[in-house]
Parts: sequence; C-alpha cells; structure tokens
Amino acid sequence: MKFNTKTIHGGQKIDPAFNSVMQPIYQTSTYAQKSPGVNKGFEYSRTHNPTRTALQNSFASLENAKYGVAFSSGLAAIDAIIKLLSPGDEVISTNDLYGGTFRLFTKIFEKYGVKFHFTSLHNTADVESLINENTKVIWAETPTNPMINIFDIEVLSNISKSNNLLFVVDNTFASPYLQNPLNLGADIVMHSATKYLAGHSDVVLGALMLNDDEIAEKLYFVQNASGAVPGPQDCFLTLRGIKTLHVRMQRHCENAHKVAHFLNDHEMVEKVYWPGLESHKNHKVAKKQMSGFGGMLSFRMKDFSKEQSIKFLEKLHLFTLAESLGGVESLCGHPATMTHASIPKEEREKSGVTDSLIRLSVGIEDVDDLINDLQNAFL
Ligand SMILES: *Cc1c(COP(=O)(O)O)cnc(C)c1O
Repeated sequence: MKFNTKTIHGGQKIDPAFNSVMQPIYQTSTYAQKSPGVNKGFEYSRTHNPTRTALQNSFASLENAKYGVAFSSGLAAIDAIIKLLSPGDEVISTNDLYGGTFRLFTKIFEKYGVKFHFTSLHNTADVESLINENTKVIWAETPTNPMINIFDIEVLSNISKSNNLLFVVDNTFASPYLQNPLNLGADIVMHSATKYLAGHSDVVLGALMLNDDEIAEKLYFVQNASGAVPGPQDCFLTLRGIKTLHVRMQRHCENAHKVAHFLNDHEMVEKVYWPGLESHKNHKVAKKQMSGFGGMLSFRMKDFSKEQSIKFLEKLHLFTLAESLGGVESLCGHPATMTHASIPKEEREKSGVTDSLIRLSVGIEDVDDLINDLQNAFL
C-alpha cells in the first residue's frame, strides 16, 4: 500500500458490529465477560479500547512499523520511553530540543537518577565522546524547533548501532508524510499527534511507532501500568485527521515554499530558516532524508527590537498568535517570549533564538492571502 492510501486504510478493518465504514467511538470503560476471564480481548479501557486499537494500527502503518502505541499526549509518549531506563542510565540529546521534552528530562527524570547530556548532534565526535557504559539512548529531534535544524538520521543511527544504544527520533515536525526514521535506522519514532497527524488543533495526543517485539511489550506495559492513555473520542479525532494527512502536508509544503521565498526576498528580512532554501545549512541532508521540506519556518528581521517584532506579530490577522503548530490554520509565534522564555537570554541567543526571531506554522489557506497578511504587517 502506498502512503496516500495508508492514511485512509492503513491497519483499518470494517467494524464487525454493524459494518460501519468509520471506526466507532467506543465510549466505554469496561466490557461484559461471559464468565470470569472469558471475553473478546477487551476487559478494561485503560488496557484496551477498540477505537484506540484502530488508531494504533494506523500509527504503525504510517511509519512502516510493526507496532503503534498511543498516549494521552506527546509528552506522555516521551515519558513512557524514559521509564524504560533505570537510575544511573544516561541519555544523549540535542541542545535544540522541544522545551517540554527538556523540562520532562531535567525536572522530572533527573530526580530519579537518569542523566541527560545535551550537545549538538551535528558533531559526531562530540556525541561519541559522551558515550560510556551507562549510555542507553540517543534522543534526536529533526527538524528542530524553532531553528529548523536538520540532523542526519542515518549517521546517528550508525553511532547508535555500533554502541548498542536505543535511537529515538521525535518526528513531529516532519510528519510521516515527509520522513520515516525507522527506514533510516531509528529504533523508535515519536510523534506529538497533536500537531500534523491530527492536524486540526482540536486534540492533544501522542504516538510511538517501532518494530522490536521486546521493547513494544515493555511500552504497552508502561501504557497500561502508568495509564496515560487517550480517550476514545480523541482517538477518533486523530484517526479522522490522519485520513487527510497527505493532502494537507502537500499543501503545507507548497505554501511554506512560497512564503519562505517571499520572506527571503524581502529587504527587511535578514535570514529565513526553512530547509528547502539552498542557503539553509542542512539543505543537503534534508534533501536526502525528507521527501519535502515541511510547513514550519522561522525568520529573523534586520535590526528589529523585541517591541518591533511583537508589533509585527500583532499586525498579522490570518496568522494567529498561538502556541502549537501543524493545524490547517496558520499560526505565528515569538519564541523568545513564548516557547523559549524560560531559557536565559544569553543561552537562547547562542542557539539563534534572538528577540527578532519569528516562527510560522504555515497553514493550508490560499497562499496569496497569507503573503498579503505578511506584506501588510511589514508596512
Ligand atoms: C508539541 C511537541 C511535543 C509535545 O507534545 P504534546 O502533544 O504537546 O504533549 C513534543 N515534541 C515536539 C517537537 C512538539 O512540537
């Protein structure tokens, strides 16, 4: 099955109860048993729910994986992976990490004795120098937020394999439409399905996809034992969103291409960060491992103060000022005061998050209207 068919049919069966074409929302916490333990494989909805099973099968199909595991949020999915570790274990990750992941690692799991190293994953010598007998996981995110850095998945996978580590890729920004890390050697793919997978800014949900039987069993155990499961209504909304993933992503990419070039040509713009531009420092790697360049971009104004940047954002009408990304509607944000406000100014400026940096999640509206909106905000 090709990807554009998998979004609609991947892992799905006609529901046996009434042959409904759409997966029903099984809004139930429990299931009748004929005799104790005699049931149709469903006992309690924290453990199994048919709507969630359908979603997990869809997740697996999208990433060419054997297993899909659904969680109540992207962070709950990340939490489940780190719960596979023990005190003393070490994780190597990027210093350009999603803020919520950084917070979970440092504020929750460090307390339990897991050690995290943050480095630039571009530099393989740096990564290798951090590996010791306690290292268990390499955690990568590509493209990253908000600098849209691209890491070479195959290179990191080779380092991981030769050192017997678990290699996890947060594939939220690319979506399975543009990039399939398992095919490039990753062990687990993680998604905040809240973003492109669900795609309509109406649900918070997380996903893991993987092939290894033993690790899958451990993750299903954590899913049930810790209990961060999504409800059937949210599973349904995500399944419904996934049906148009390929159509939406195609338009996100087309619109971002035009917006990136418009900004790149604008005299008031100093730099645009979008991996489709040849000037992007990881353009070649992006071209190698992604089938398109995505709908996320950031740009920096020439000599703009924080106040001028905020004024610019306030003048936008079609781009809504909001956290999150990946929905059908265009969003804009000011990383320095929003997503990255908790990082000291000097630290964040080192990674490129200056006061004049603006992040866009380019939606699927008519691109002429989006460009007009930006044009007016420059005036
Ligand atoms: C949003 C996001 C997460 C967290 O997912 P939630 O669904 O908000 O819990 C993790 N990684 C990336 C890259 C994200 O954008």
